[in-house]
Amino acid sequence: MRPTVARTIASIGLGANLGDAPTTLRRALDALGALPDTTLIATSPIYRSAPIDAGGPDYANAVALLRTALAPQALLAALQRIELAHGRDRPHRNAPRTLDLDLLLYGDECIATPTLTVPHPRMHERAFVLKPLADVAPAAVIPGRGAVSEWLARVADQRVERWSP
Ligand code: ADP
Ligand code: MG
Repeated sequence: MRPTVARTIASIGLGANLGDAPTTLRRALDALGALPDTTLIATSPIYRSAPIDAGGPDYANAVALLRTALAPQALLAALQRIELAHGRDRPHRNAPRTLDLDLLLYGDECIATPTLTVPHPRMHERAFVLKPLADVAPAAVIPGRGAVSEWLARVADQRVERWSP
């Protein structure tokens, strides 16, 4: 019998704004579903949002819900490998990127290390994260901050719309 491994629900924020951004997101979602010891439970629709603090094309955004036995740092490393596999290139801060994967929530854990902060420190102020997160996890709570639905109501002024096919 295989040993039982604790599994945690984690949410991942996906963003891309170079090239065919929706296609990049769909491939990244496939890659998340192929991670070891991980099940892809739900994916949000793809949304379009204007870049924050930067120029360039609109972003495509989505959120994926995973059930995973990977530890938070291992999951972050896996996300970074997927980013690299999709040609991420960072010439400067806030530069357009082919793919950005953020670990938003890992169960109800709060993590603060030099390389990983969970909940993601800016997620509660970004409609392009909160909207797709509310689609896949309407009752989600950001540990230390409160309900996703309440934070979403506070960013109603940020333009986020469905990416039309
Ligand atoms: P951002 O996503 O905030 O625009 P980057 O993707 O360039 O910025 O940030 C990458 C760095 O952020 C990585 O080196 C990683 O170690 C760190 N980081 C800290 N917390 C997280 C998290 N929850 N998800 C993803 N990266 C994180
Ligand atoms: Mg990131």
